[in-house]
Amino acid sequence: VRSIKDKPIAGILHADLDAFYASVEQRDNARLAGKAMAVGGSVILAASYQARALGVRTAMPLRDALELCPNLAVVPPRMEAYSDASAAVMDIFRDTTPLVEPISIDEAFLDVSGLRRLSGEPAHIAQGLRTRVASEVGLALSVGVARTKFLAKVASGVAKPDGQLVVEPHLELEILHPLPVQRLWGVGPKTAEKLAERGIVSVADVAAVGEAGLVTMLGTGSGRHLYRLAHNLDPRPVVTGRRRSSIGAQRALGSQQRSFDEHCATLLELVDRVCGRLRDGHRVGRTATLRFRFGDFSRDTRSRTLGESTASTSVFLSTAQDLLAPRRDEIRRRQLTLLGFTISNLSPADAVQQSLPFDARSSANLDEALDAIRTKHGSSSIGRARLVGRSNAVSVPLLPDPVLPL
Ligand SMILES: [Mg+2]
Repeated sequence: VRSIKDKPIAGILHADLDAFYASVEQRDNARLAGKAMAVGGSVILAASYQARALGVRTAMPLRDALELCPNLAVVPPRMEAYSDASAAVMDIFRDTTPLVEPISIDEAFLDVSGLRRLSGEPAHIAQGLRTRVASEVGLALSVGVARTKFLAKVASGVAKPDGQLVVEPHLELEILHPLPVQRLWGVGPKTAEKLAERGIVSVADVAAVGEAGLVTMLGTGSGRHLYRLAHNLDPRPVVTGRRRSSIGAQRALGSQQRSFDEHCATLLELVDRVCGRLRDGHRVGRTATLRFRFGDFSRDTRSRTLGESTASTSVFLSTAQDLLAPRRDEIRRRQLTLLGFTISNLSPADAVQQSLPFDARSSANLDEALDAIRTKHGSSSIGRARLVGRSNAVSVPLLPDPVLPL
């Protein structure tokens, strides 16, 4: 196992949504906001921080929870809302770095050590993630930053709720050593008991025993493993793992009334961004999905699957416009507060037959030209004509835009 002791900066982020299921419910239902509430049925699946303060915990029988907190509001789980929120958050992560390793529905590791020159210090990136998740998804995210996965996860736990903690390399052991041994990866109740019999209760105690002693006590595998963790030697890299099944982006629109034209412009911006990421990843997709959230927090989606896979902005834009146009009246009446666009049914770009008709080919060339300019001069160096003057598309486009009429 290679030591990463000499890696100079803390560049691994552990990002974890706070009280995830409960927070989604509090976000979507004003009557639950700020209250002691929980998600579940006969057993508590998740409790809000207000309920936790009264002792309510995950996996607790409802009866016990009500004894601790007689006013506890309990709502049934809405898994679809949680997986929607999760997908939106993971999209924000992947918008930040391609090195994202989701661990569960509400947490992921991100490696941002290579982004320093492009996006700034890890602490700055962590702050940006938290701001985006709050404004675009309406949820609180806590982030731990360290040189190792293990310590990043410890740090996000310390930072909760709604905080961030950067563990500078010279402070690693100061944070690590006072922790109880149970916080070490792989220490279950049995191992903890074995260690406690020998007076080893903190990570500092583990470190003091030394590798040989730990191996004698726990066997070669566990002994070495614990020795390494106690010295913050955790060489596991962030692995992106399975290929993604979709790529998407979304935009929170706030509560002010917007014109349909503004929604069309937002859609263009989203489609442009998502297709750019698709091409960056050398992938093509077949299914376009629009996501809507309305003023009453209800959600809805509209999808269409194309005859052929593509990464063409103009093809996906016209598909997305077709999905948006029939909802014009409804969007005004119900007040659109969030618009999202996702491409799924993905496959590698080389699987596409090179038999594009001439006009599709020319717009593919335009896409490539735009991508090349962005790669060379940064993503805000060029925008499509419709985006000029909007907040995050700045300069005048250098190329004519064949997809203009909305
Ligand atoms: Mg969480």
